[in-house]
Amino acid sequence: MQNKINNVVIVGGGTAGWMTANLLARVLGKSINVTLLESEDIPTVGVGEATIPPIMQFNQAIGVNELDFMQASKATIKLGIQFENWLKPNHHYMHAFGSIGKNFPFCDFNHFWLKQQNKNDQVDNLTYWDFSLNYQAAKHNKFQKLKHLPNTNLPGIAYAYHFDAGLYAKFLTEHGKQQGVKHVIGTVKQVNQNHETGFIEGLLLDNDTQLSGDLFIDCTGMHALLIEKTLSTGYDDWSHWLPCDRAMAVPSENAETVVPYTRSIAHHVGWQWQIPLQHRTGNGLVYSSKHMSDEEAKQTLLGNLPGKPLNDPRIIKFRTGRRRKIWNKNVISIGLSSGFLEPLESTNIHLVQSVATRLLKFFPHNGISQTLVDEFNRLCKTEVEGIRDFIILHYKLNARTDSPFWRLCQQMDVPDTLKTKIELFKQTGKVHCEPNDLFTEIAWQQVMLGQGVTPADIHPLVDGLSDEQIKDMMESLRTLVDKTVENMPTHQDFLSSLT
Ligand code: FAD
Repeated sequence: MQNKINNVVIVGGGTAGWMTANLLARVLGKSINVTLLESEDIPTVGVGEATIPPIMQFNQAIGVNELDFMQASKATIKLGIQFENWLKPNHHYMHAFGSIGKNFPFCDFNHFWLKQQNKNDQVDNLTYWDFSLNYQAAKHNKFQKLKHLPNTNLPGIAYAYHFDAGLYAKFLTEHGKQQGVKHVIGTVKQVNQNHETGFIEGLLLDNDTQLSGDLFIDCTGMHALLIEKTLSTGYDDWSHWLPCDRAMAVPSENAETVVPYTRSIAHHVGWQWQIPLQHRTGNGLVYSSKHMSDEEAKQTLLGNLPGKPLNDPRIIKFRTGRRRKIWNKNVISIGLSSGFLEPLESTNIHLVQSVATRLLKFFPHNGISQTLVDEFNRLCKTEVEGIRDFIILHYKLNARTDSPFWRLCQQMDVPDTLKTKIELFKQTGKVHCEPNDLFTEIAWQQVMLGQGVTPADIHPLVDGLSDEQIKDMMESLRTLVDKTVENMPTHQDFLSSLT
């Protein structure tokens, strides 16, 4: 046990630093002092624009008004991610947020749809996504919160945001200062550790002032100043499963229509994101430098923009994996300092939120105990490995034959946890997720069905229903989704109503 924790020092003023500072100050601000140090000389990573629905709970938890936030960060609505060319060229599907069809306690809706598929008189050859409110709204370029719509029995629409990460961090800076976060500008030039324990006691800044603290949060991004450069915590490298190691990013003008979903477009090597904001589109190509030169990446990216580029593209190098311990001694790494997963499912900002929330639950106010640290690290590990598997899934289940890159991904050996999930779905149409898993059964089903898996079996509950019963249920669900989408304004009209 160390002494009581009164002073928390967050090093780094990117999205991770400011999100963590806001949450700690908002919830524990009466019991602890929260200081955030950021350097004017070391830039933030400057990308990271697509999120997933739990961000809404985070913004609510720190007391942010949705309208203020959307205006400040030039946000648009995100209803899912459209995966283009992932199974094979000219094929697409969506990982739509929210539910699909209807939830039953013993049997997922995909079994009803599969049974319908196996029959000869299918209703208009319906796809699984015809029963997704999010997908239908996305494809018709519509959005509205259901409480503002008349007569719908659907439970709700799940959404997240695309936003300008730099503007979000600025917004959180002001908000955090109002919550009592002490903001210090400076660059760490020396880290002082206790000679016996190795715990960090203070930071010497470039202006020769000292910043001392009891608990340090490393939000220094890929610099990993405290967790790695100081404490040598170690890193599990996952690049044998996720071979991309570079991103090339460039903002561009928007396309004519600002769509309410992220586009993830697979190319000859790697994939490209298109993230539409109110004022511009964020674009980037994620690729493997072993399989594609930077020049080829540049041509691929610039050849596939929705509008004119607004800057020169810039390269960001990364190594996919995770820090062996997220919490080591009195340092907790949050954000890019804790590891990196490519932004295929927009999970990095979510991991900031999730680890910062876990820190609140495990806050060591009476001192740091190893039991607490070990349990915290175990939960972080399980969480990120689940997300890792979900991302690998997209690569593994490709049927592309156009490059060694995609063939390598098809043939690679994947983690046993993922192997089991794919095999179980192939055999039975079932997916099992643990209650704390980020991605639900419906998310996994969409990617597996979208990337060509057809389960061999159907749940006996569905087999016991007559064709007529299934057809009636499917038709009424589809009508409900279609009518709800019909009543929605366009995404653009929704955005215009914010101002
Ligand atoms: P940074 O933004 O790099 O901030 C680091 C901070 O540490 C800076 O303020 C810097 O000044 C400070 N610092 C560093 N060294 C010192 C020092 N010695 N002294 C003082 N201060 C120091 N996430 C998503 O959720 N969705 C996405 O779509 C997405 N896309 C991404 C695309 C790419 C190519 C990359 C690389 C990441 C993406 N991410 C995405 C991840 C997301 O950008 C990050 O998780 C998020 O921005 C948090 O970054 P950070 O705050 O950890 O690091």
